Amino acid sequence: METAMQRPPVARTLGLTKSFAAREAITGVDLSIPPGVAFGLLGPNGAGKTTLIRCLLGLLRPTSGSVELMGHCMPQENAAALARVGAVVEEPRFYDHLSGRDNLRVVAALLDESAPQRIPSVLERVGLTDRALDRVGSYSLGMKQRLGIARCLLNDPLLLVLDEPMNGLDPAGIQEFRILVRRLVGEGRSVLISSHLLDEIEKTCDVVGIIDRGRLVRQSTLRELRHTSQNQVRVGCDDAAAARKVMQQLSWVSAIGADDSGQLIVTLAADATAASLNRALVSAGVGVSLLQAAEVTLEERFLDLTTRLQSSEVRA
Ligand code: ATP
Repeated sequence: METAMQRPPVARTLGLTKSFAAREAITGVDLSIPPGVAFGLLGPNGAGKTTLIRCLLGLLRPTSGSVELMGHCMPQENAAALARVGAVVEEPRFYDHLSGRDNLRVVAALLDESAPQRIPSVLERVGLTDRALDRVGSYSLGMKQRLGIARCLLNDPLLLVLDEPMNGLDPAGIQEFRILVRRLVGEGRSVLISSHLLDEIEKTCDVVGIIDRGRLVRQSTLRELRHTSQNQVRVGCDDAAAARKVMQQLSWVSAIGADDSGQLIVTLAADATAASLNRALVSAGVGVSLLQAAEVTLEERFLDLTTRLQSSEVRA
């Protein structure tokens, strides 16, 4: 079966470079956003995320390289490319004195004939039906973000581009946002999200691109990114000290570490298996409650790949 990664990308850049005066904000970026995924664009402050997004949307003209959006060259074929793209690049702005529904009516009137009919379903999808008749001035930030997404959904986009959409949201707002993104991806759309919030990207996205000092240093699925090339297993047991003693005697255990929660991270020789480790521990009387392939977290990988990170930028 054809997978999303094999179908033509909804957005692609080749050698994309954008300079402001003498300074290159992004350099030689080759990015590819597959259809039907949540794509997390990660990077420290000033890494070039917004510049990249603006080039993708035709809001900035690249200094060199190319951008293809929905199969169309940008910015030359702007109108055709953007017909099925929705974007919230800055904090969404509305007419505060109008209701959420009337704000959508204003926009829908400028789109195709069927756009006004989509207003009720769009409001429903972002969870704003109950508040649709209230003035936008009375909305919380999270509600405004969702109304911004509702506005994008009026043209039934195949790609949504959201620059820092979780900034300023409280935990409940972030959770609602995550559910909404997964629902949109479930409908076959792609959602590009730029963010500093590694934990949220890890929970929300399927694919990530990591940008550092204007260069795309990695693009891959989260699964590939978390995978460690070493033969490592995570071990949970009832007596970590006893388990360590047993494992220190095993010639095929090459290292024993632990994570923050006290679970052991055990590196095995290439030909050793988790099953052998389980047998050795159990036969020595250690109760094993967990045995799984160890993976690195997105944060660990991000810290490996980026160079000028400050902790405040990651956990913002
Ligand atoms: P943040 O997470 O802080 O929003 P970012 O990853 O989105 O950062 P950009 O806003 O794309 O980064 O900025 C990348 C670099 O380009 C920075 O050095 C920035 O100062 C520079 N830059 C961006 N826009 C302009 C502009 N209009 N004129 C001059 N320099 C710019």
